[in-house]
Amino acid sequence: MIRSLALFALVLSGCPSEEPEPEPELPPKVLVIGIDGLRGDGIGGAETPTLDSLIDGGAWTMTATTQLGAPTVSGPGWTSILTGVDADKHLIYSNGGWDQIDRAYPTFLKRASDLGFGTGAAIHWLPIHVDIIEDDVLDEAVPNADDDAVADGMAAMLTDFDLDVHFVHLDDVDGAGHSSGFSIENPEYVAEIEEVDGQIGRILDALEARPTRDEERWVVIVTSDHGGSGTSHGGVTDDHRLIPLIVAGDGVSPGELAAGSHLDVHATVMKYLGHPPEASWGLDGVPRDLGDS
Ligand SMILES: [Zn+2]
Repeated sequence: MIRSLALFALVLSGCPSEEPEPEPELPPKVLVIGIDGLRGDGIGGAETPTLDSLIDGGAWTMTATTQLGAPTVSGPGWTSILTGVDADKHLIYSNGGWDQIDRAYPTFLKRASDLGFGTGAAIHWLPIHVDIIEDDVLDEAVPNADDDAVADGMAAMLTDFDLDVHFVHLDDVDGAGHSSGFSIENPEYVAEIEEVDGQIGRILDALEARPTRDEERWVVIVTSDHGGSGTSHGGVTDDHRLIPLIVAGDGVSPGELAAGSHLDVHATVMKYLGHPPEASWGLDGVPRDLGDS
């Protein structure tokens, strides 16, 4: 009798007078989607329901810039996106010279991995996997010179694993530009953008179908390494330098950004992970709109 009274008192005291527990913050998850050779006007010139849905709910600009300190080619482009610094720091000025890369400026995948986040990537252009991303940083990797295989690899990664920071590189828009022209007047370039939109749709379907989706908060970032004109790129004109930047997801304030650069991806990822950039990192990009998060 005494014992049950004591239990009754314990239950009473534990109930109505207690402050409600604060909601634990949901774990952050990141997906960065890189579309090689996508001009700033590329999305507007094509039927892209998936990318349009990211733009509708996201912060975006179609006049973001590439890095300014190197030609608008893939080597410095992807190195700048992943490290968040311009070529005068990472020291990659072309699609080669990889042993010059300055590892004082790690990729966001390395930074996240060092902080204990799980990392995964699906990559078409192999130098990103072999030369730019540091060794032993990726928990899961799908290197494959086929965009469909890359997209399906990332979709499977989102379905089968519980990683935190994901990077996917799709290359065929660049291929269409080189073979027939970087222009929204070129039906082949437009068709490839529309194909990539479908591949991204499959990736995002896998993300939304995660059984733990409601217990996670996600940001999806889309950008490119360069645009192009004619059948080439590498110059400093707007045709080559202007690219899309889209930041969409839980906690993002939607609307058009006044400015942006693909150098901002690294800083935005790290801020979303709860580790905003420190001055000592020497980043050349800044976090782009994540609301109050
Ligand atoms: Zn490229």
